[in-house]
Amino acid sequence: MLNRRTFLKASAASVPLAASLQTLNPAAIPAEMIANAAITGAAPKLISLPGRLAPVDPSTLPWQQNIRRVGQSNMTEHDPAVMNIEAWADYWHSAGADIVFISVTGILAFYPSKVQFHRHGRFLHGRDFFGECVDAARERGMRVVARMSPDLNWSDALDAHPEWAMRDANGSVLLSDEDSRLFQTCMFTSYMDDYVPAIMHEINSLYDVDCFYTNGWPPIGSLPDCHCAICSKLPPSNTTAYWRVFNDRVLELWHKYDAIAKGKKPDSFYFANLGGNVRCGPNLDRLSKTAVWFQADNQGRTFDDPAIWGCSLQGRVCSAMMEGKFAANVSAAYSTGKVRWRNASKNPAEATMWFNETVASGMALYYHFIGSEAGFGEDRRWQKIGSDYFQWAKKHDAHLKPRRSLANIGVIMGQSTQLLYPPPPAAHAHDYMRETIHGIYATLLNGRFAFDFVHEDRLDLERISKYRALLLPNVAMLSDRQCQQIRDYVRSGGSIMASFETGLYNENLQRRKEFALADLLGISKAGDVIGTNGNAYYGRIEHSHPIVSGFSNTNWLPGAQNRLPLQPVVDPVLTVVPGFVNYPPELAYPPASHTDEPAVVLREVGSSRLAYFPGDIERTFWLTGHGDLLRLLHNTIRWITQDQTVVQVDGDGFLELFAWETAPGYAIHLLNYTNPNAHHGWLSTAYPLGPQTVSMMLPSGKVKAVELLRSERTIPFRLDGSVLRFTVPRVDDYEIAAVTVG
Ligand SMILES: [Zn+2]
Repeated sequence: MLNRRTFLKASAASVPLAASLQTLNPAAIPAEMIANAAITGAAPKLISLPGRLAPVDPSTLPWQQNIRRVGQSNMTEHDPAVMNIEAWADYWHSAGADIVFISVTGILAFYPSKVQFHRHGRFLHGRDFFGECVDAARERGMRVVARMSPDLNWSDALDAHPEWAMRDANGSVLLSDEDSRLFQTCMFTSYMDDYVPAIMHEINSLYDVDCFYTNGWPPIGSLPDCHCAICSKLPPSNTTAYWRVFNDRVLELWHKYDAIAKGKKPDSFYFANLGGNVRCGPNLDRLSKTAVWFQADNQGRTFDDPAIWGCSLQGRVCSAMMEGKFAANVSAAYSTGKVRWRNASKNPAEATMWFNETVASGMALYYHFIGSEAGFGEDRRWQKIGSDYFQWAKKHDAHLKPRRSLANIGVIMGQSTQLLYPPPPAAHAHDYMRETIHGIYATLLNGRFAFDFVHEDRLDLERISKYRALLLPNVAMLSDRQCQQIRDYVRSGGSIMASFETGLYNENLQRRKEFALADLLGISKAGDVIGTNGNAYYGRIEHSHPIVSGFSNTNWLPGAQNRLPLQPVVDPVLTVVPGFVNYPPELAYPPASHTDEPAVVLREVGSSRLAYFPGDIERTFWLTGHGDLLRLLHNTIRWITQDQTVVQVDGDGFLELFAWETAPGYAIHLLNYTNPNAHHGWLSTAYPLGPQTVSMMLPSGKVKAVELLRSERTIPFRLDGSVLRFTVPRVDDYEIAAVTVG
């Protein structure tokens, strides 16, 4: 059986109607033809979008929520000697930056600081470099962020305050990895209580800045491991008990610094370095109730996160947590990754795609370069890339600022699982949960599903009832309360797809004897995790079912690398063929070809559909790219959502889809990842996609126009009743279809 996309592709050669979709001017395509193509095969059911939100007057919002573009030339010790302040300010102003970061710092003072241990830079010579930059920005109408950096300091501070340092288990001071003259400061010490506030008070007394920011703290993607006098009395790092203490301290300092900022101006605030997407250090539920600026320090692809969607993944996290408050993604103009040149521009196509993802996922643009050697940069190639993009975005602000996501699938992030869960030893994993999240992400992108992330601490029915289904990709840690919220969600008609050790740990990382959602999912554990030695296990197709549609000429499907054995269930769709020897081939056959161990468990309760895979199927898809796993996951997601969709995008290619309600109407963002460098290295060019047909059902009202914002032209559309259809003829690296309603 063909799925709808393969049908479109396969039929293009033989069915003139479908072929014409690929070649004709979209204006000439009758709506019936588009509709015909859009409903053939396993047709999704378009669900009406919700009624539109009431308008909001932007002037009533806090000032930072109207910031759309952020500029930062990250200042070096040498900059007071070489930077041309006028050229710096002119660049960011002409690019259209609303706000610029200017370095105060805590390691090197960029002004004549009197705070003890706030060392003046070698090239400062008593000059007020910070103040001159503030004045230059203000003269051009740009706001100012005072940037500090509390994570390191010098040996004279250490001599006077040995208690300020982070220490290893032997009591030795932890030094900077790259410059051993600097020591790492501990966030639990008076360094953060006294020294950092002293600098903030000094800035308040001398300058007019709009807000304060600290770089380098709190840590991104991991928790500190310090053995100083204070920390040695805390619970061990990487435990749930430590995470609570860590979060308490982050919030304590955040509130303290915020109060200092507000002491000067009520609309000022403090914010800090964040990022790490789903594995951010601080608890995102707690922190985002306080933070009014999410600084996503997610500057480019890394060794650990090599996929091109690294920025949009972060954006989905920001969208889930900030719920309309400000978030910006720091995009490096310079190279990121294992080998770095922090003062050389990266590939323009890569830098541009990072901007595209920033905009598509709903964050504000933020461009970042290091140092201003030779006036305003030895390498100046980055400047035009940024200013061109900023200028383009400025023309389309109204359409680019999202009001709410239209997605009907929620993926539970499992932040605590991401940070603290110990993967099964049998997995021999490099980075188990990172692989898991990329697995589900790639699955959803390949299927062109519209989805959001949902934090495990935000499962109240009011928030999650908008989703037709929730996905739990090995969300191992769930509290009893969270499990009850999931039960309530299912009772109200929601569907679930879960995998592997989901719910096998409570919020304190204590392992349960039985799945916490055993009752809901109809499963019962029959043993411990079984890994792979040789051939991984298979799933035997026992009978036809929508989740195995499209598989023919095979009795077996690939399983996953690891699984939890389950007690038998009635009428299983897939049963486990246990793994066996891979080599020598003489022994490569199953000792038991047929078992009653389920390889998937499916349930229907009212309008809810529940699916549980005992294997780590999402992660195994990420490790292997096996198309059978992808099809099985897609079929299952379509089955639990009853094929309901809010926005359907048909066409060839691998792309990421975002669908937003905006003030003028709606915006459908298409990011073209069809590229040999989508999973490694940087993009060097775009490989354009052909026509993409968009269908969505509007709640009411008329459509005034559909405009393509990257190619900057309007396109024809059809409105059949409340169903809007149009075709985007071509997507280079990125296109946005902006729908204006009236
Ligand atoms: Zn410490």
